[in-house]
Amino acid sequence: MESVLQALQPLLEQFRTAAVETDRSGRLPLEHLRELGRAGIYRLAVPAERGGLAAPPELVWEVNESLAAACGSTHFVQAQHQGGLGFLLRGNPELLREDYLSGQRLCGVAFAHLRRPRSPVSVETTSEGWIFRGEAPWFSGWGLMDDVVLAGRDEQGQDIYTLVPLAQKSIESRESPPLSAIQASATVSLRLHDLMVPRAALVLTQTLEEMARRDFRSQLGYTVLPLGVVRAAAPFLKDERVRRSLQEKAAELRRRALAWAEDPAEALEIRASANLLALQAAQAAVVSCGGQANQLHHPANRLLRESSFYFLTQLNAPLCEAALEKLIPRS
Ligand SMILES: Cc1cc2nc3c(=O)[nH]c(=O)nc-3n(C[C@H](O)[C@H](O)[C@H](O)COP(=O)(O)OP(=O)(O)OC[C@H]3O[C@@H](n4cnc5c(N)ncnc54)[C@H](O)[C@@H]3O)c2cc1C
Repeated sequence: MESVLQALQPLLEQFRTAAVETDRSGRLPLEHLRELGRAGIYRLAVPAERGGLAAPPELVWEVNESLAAACGSTHFVQAQHQGGLGFLLRGNPELLREDYLSGQRLCGVAFAHLRRPRSPVSVETTSEGWIFRGEAPWFSGWGLMDDVVLAGRDEQGQDIYTLVPLAQKSIESRESPPLSAIQASATVSLRLHDLMVPRAALVLTQTLEEMARRDFRSQLGYTVLPLGVVRAAAPFLKDERVRRSLQEKAAELRRRALAWAEDPAEALEIRASANLLALQAAQAAVVSCGGQANQLHHPANRLLRESSFYFLTQLNAPLCEAALEKLIPRS
C-alpha cells in the first residue's frame, strides 16, 4: 500500500512542475492518466476481491488531496474515471474490467444533469434496452476517455445509469465555451441522437431521492479539491503565522471529514467551509505574490480560478445554500 504513495511522489512532482503548461492546454496529456493507473491509484478504494487494494480511507484521502494540490486538471479528470468505477462497483461489478483498474481503458461520467429540475436527457424503455435522447451538458475527458457512465430519466421518473462506449455515431460532442478553470479537462456536452443501449450495459437504477441522499457523501469526498488548493497555496504565504493558521484550519476540516458519521448537515458544513478556506488561501497567495499574480498563468492565479470552480462541483440546491451562507452570512 505504501508503495502506491512512494510511486506517486515523482509523478506528483512532475504534474506540479507541468501544472502551468497543463492549465494552458486544451486537454491534459493522456499519459498523466495512464501513469496514475500504473502507480495503482485506480485500485486504491476497490475491494481486494475485485482486484483492488482496499486502502484505508486516510490513505485514499492523502493521495487525492496531494494530487489535487499538484495539478487541478489532472486530479479532476482522473476523479471522473474513479467516479465511473465507483458506479460500476456499486451497481454492476461484473462491468469493472481489469483494464479500467490499470488505467489502460478510461471511463468518465455524465449524470450531474439529473440534479436539474428537468433532466435534459430522456430515456425510452424498449424490449432490448433503452433509447437515450437529449444533451448531457457536462462531460469531462473527451478524447481521453473510452467509455462513459451515462444517465438519463425514463418515463416513470426513474434514473437509468448505463455504461456506453463513446466512439459511436449517436454520440456527438459539442465544445464548451472557454473555461475559467480546468480548461485542460476537455469538457464538452454530449448530444445523444437516439442512442440505443442494450440491457447488458445497465449499471444501476435509482430515484432522484436516492441520488440526493448519496450526494452528501460525494460532496464530502470532493472536499479534497479545495483542501488541495489550500495545500498548494500555503507555500506562497510569507507570514509563518498566517501559513500555520491556514494549515491548522485545513487539518481540522480533514479530520472532521474522515470522522464523518453520515450527518448530511455536517457534510455540507465541512464542504462549504473548505470551499471558503480554499478561496481565502488562494486569494492570500495572490496578494502575497503581488502584481505578477494577475497574470493568467501564474500558479497563484490558477489556484484562485480553481478554488472558485470547486464551488460548482456536485452543486445541488442544499450545497448552493450552504455555500452562499458561508460566503455572505445572513446575520
Ligand atoms: C468544467 C465542468 C466540468 C464538469 N464535468 C462533469 C462531468 O464530467 N460529469 C458530470 O456528470 N458533471 C460534470 N460537471 C457538472 C458539475 O458537477 C455540476 O453539476 C455543475 O457544475 C452544476 O451546474 P449546472 O449548470 O449543471 O447546474 P445548475 O442548473 O446551475 O443547477 C445547480 C443546482 O441547483 C439546483 N437548481 C437549479 N435550478 C433549480 C430550480 N429551478 N429549482 C430548484 N433547484 C434548482 C439543482 O439542484 C441543480 O443541481 C461539470 C461542470 C463543470 C463546470
